[in-house]
Amino acid sequence: MEAPSTYQPGQPIYLDYCATTPVDERVFARMTPFFTTHFGNATSRHHAFGWDAREAMETARFQVAALINARPGEIVFTSGATESINLAIKGVMQPHRNGSPHLITTAVEHSAVRNTCRFLEAQGVAVTYLPVDSAGRIDLDELEASITAQTRLIAVMAANNEIGTVYPLAEIGQIARRHGVLFFTDATQAAGKIPLDVAQDQVDLLAFSAHKIYGPKGIGALFVRGGAPVIDLSPQTHGGGQEQGLRSGTPHVPGIVGFGEASRLAQMVLSEESQRVLLLRDRLESALLARLPDAQVHGAQMARLPNLTHLAFNAVEGKDLIGAIHPVAASLGAACTRTGGPSPVLKAIGLTDDEAYASVRFSVGRFTTEAEIDYTVDVVERAVRRLRQPFLEQHTPRYPADV
Ligand SMILES: *Cc1c(COP(=O)(O)O)cnc(C)c1O
Repeated sequence: MEAPSTYQPGQPIYLDYCATTPVDERVFARMTPFFTTHFGNATSRHHAFGWDAREAMETARFQVAALINARPGEIVFTSGATESINLAIKGVMQPHRNGSPHLITTAVEHSAVRNTCRFLEAQGVAVTYLPVDSAGRIDLDELEASITAQTRLIAVMAANNEIGTVYPLAEIGQIARRHGVLFFTDATQAAGKIPLDVAQDQVDLLAFSAHKIYGPKGIGALFVRGGAPVIDLSPQTHGGGQEQGLRSGTPHVPGIVGFGEASRLAQMVLSEESQRVLLLRDRLESALLARLPDAQVHGAQMARLPNLTHLAFNAVEGKDLIGAIHPVAASLGAACTRTGGPSPVLKAIGLTDDEAYASVRFSVGRFTTEAEIDYTVDVVERAVRRLRQPFLEQHTPRYPADV
C-alpha cells in the first residue's frame, strides 16, 4: 500500500490507528494462500496439508516471538489481546487454593484488563487499583508498598491507549521479581511502536494483538515466560489441547501467518517508522496548539507513544467535534460519551467531566501523509471555531460595546 503523495480534499483521512490499522498489503499477500490452497488443519499429523499449515504457523510463532525477544515456545496464539489478557489474569488468579489472592493493577488499564479485574473481584480476589498522576504515571514506591504476602500478580500496561503514557517495564519487572510476584503487561499499544524485550525487562506474561500492527483482526498472542520458576496458568478454554493445552481450538492459520508477517515488518521498520509518525504527530499537535491556543494536550510532559495526541478543546464537546470534522476519522479515546460516562482514564489523570468530554484522540500511522495532517488541522480549526460560537454566546455576558 503506497501512501498517496497528494491529498484530494474530501477523501477520508484515517487518524484512528490506535483503534485498529489496515492490513498491510504485504501481510495480506502472505495470508491468502492459507485460506484456499493451504487450508490444512495445523494439528492434522498425517498429511501434507496439515504439515504445511503447521510449518507456516511455526514460522509465524518465531516472528511474533522475535518482536518481543521471546522464544517461540513461549508464544500462545489467541483470538486477540482481549483473550490473551483474560487468559493471563484469570489463568494466574483463578485457581486460588489457599487464602484470598491479591492482584495489583492501575486505574488506567484498557477495559479488557479493568473488567477482568472487576470480574475477579466479584469472585473474591482482592484488587488494588494504583492511582496515577496528571500524566498517567504510577508511583513505583506505592506499587512496591502495596505488595502483600497474598499478592500473585502485578498487571501494568506497557503503554496507555488513550493518552500514550509509557510505563517503566524494567523497573516494575525488578520489583515483581524481588517479591516473587508475577508481572503481566498489556503491550497492545506499545508493540511495534517502542522496543519490547521480555527477557531484559523480566516480564512473565505479555499480551498483544495483530490488528494494531497492520495485521488482521481476530488474532493475538500471549507470551508466557518459560523456565523456572514455572508459571502455573490455568487454561480458560478447554478442548483438544492445542497451544500447549492453554488455548484449545483449531488454530486460525491465515491469521497467525498474517500476525507473523506483521510482526516481522514491525520489527524491521520500528525505529524508522516511529521517527516518521513522531514527526507527523508533532506536526499535527503543534499546528493545532498554534491555531487554537487554549487547546490542551494530555500527558505532553512525559514519555509517551510517538503516534498519538489526545487534546482537550476548551468549550467544545468531543463527540460534536468528531461529528464535525468529516472526512477525518478520530476517536474519543475509549467509551467516552455523555451516556457511557467520561473515560475512566481521563478521570484518573484528574480531568473534570467537562474536560474529559471535550477531548479527542488523533493517532497517526504507517500510511498517514503530511498533506493529510495539514488538511486535518484546517478542518479541526474550522470545526472548533464554529462549534464554540453558540457555546460562547450562551456563556459570555454581552456588553453593548461588543456589538
Ligand atoms: C486494542 C487494545 C486491546 C484489545 O485488543 P483486541 O485484540 O482488540 O482484543 C487491549 N489493550 C489495549 C491497550 C488495546 O489498545
